[in-house]
Amino acid sequence: MIKGLGKADLHIHTTASDGNSEAAQIVDLAAKNHLKTIAITDHDTIAGYEKAREHALAKGVTLLSGVELTTDFDGRECHLLAYCFDPEDPGFRKLLLSHKKARVDRGEWIIDQLAGKGLDLDINEVKAEANGSNIGRPHIASVLVDKGYVATQREAFIRYLSNDALGPIDSNYRSYNEVISVVKEAGGAVVVAHPGKMYTEEELEKFVDAGIDGIEVLHPSHDYKTQKQMEGFADRHNLLKTGGSDFHGDSSGYQKHFGIVTISESTVDRLVHMTGQRKEISLDSI
Ligand code: AMP
Ligand code: ZN
Ligand code: FE
Ligand code: FE
Repeated sequence: MIKGLGKADLHIHTTASDGNSEAAQIVDLAAKNHLKTIAITDHDTIAGYEKAREHALAKGVTLLSGVELTTDFDGRECHLLAYCFDPEDPGFRKLLLSHKKARVDRGEWIIDQLAGKGLDLDINEVKAEANGSNIGRPHIASVLVDKGYVATQREAFIRYLSNDALGPIDSNYRSYNEVISVVKEAGGAVVVAHPGKMYTEEELEKFVDAGIDGIEVLHPSHDYKTQKQMEGFADRHNLLKTGGSDFHGDSSGYQKHFGIVTISESTVDRLVHMTGQRKEISLDSI
């Protein structure tokens, strides 16, 4: 059993998407780092969360259901974190399936763009790199490294794969409004991921109008000033203030420090309480 320091990390990736650690390793790391609660939030899949459940129980780590959903925000891709949903909810399952397909279509679109720049890639190479997981740009970056087009993943992003390098990405993710309602129907809560460098206050207001429950105030990409701004925004709108390390594995080229950002259990209590009530209300209405 973990001695209750009451720390939580609510943003973690595994090999089910573009992280380098297996789900069970994440649970071990959480126990080692005295985290009481974690959420595995892979990109558009809960396969890592499902794999980790039994091990978390055995290790005494509380594992919340979680996922980082890509959504369409007025033509831009936006990441929304969802927590404490019913993983069996049919509407939610359907959403994950449609996003898995959207990721493949988008991968093909990116490969077409790269072909225009003289780089020869095949979607099957990217699928092989992902090894059954949801594909993402880091898998494309790895293939670019393997084929000798770039020396590192970082170089792949800078030269070819960043939002700036690609321009507006053509993808078929569902709109943020729709995604927010699907998660809430599944009894979950929705939080805007790493908002600091992504949105203006006016844009954040649009998420509030669409019914989000919280914003990710603590994230490694937020400097102190950004964090304070986000805290202020959350307080003014009575939103949950969540956080996490966005860990992608210690050999990853992106967020490689586990548990670097943690939040207190009081936020987790509020999250669990809020979603518990949401589930009771939806049961009452049947
Ligand atoms: P995707 O899900 O295909 O949009 O890819 C987004 C993921 O790419 C992020 O979650 C990170 O894991 C990774 N990523 C984004 N920017 C960079 C970067 N500059 N260098 C390396 N990885 C990055
Ligand atoms: Zn990622
Ligand atoms: Fe993200
Ligand atoms: Fe993430």
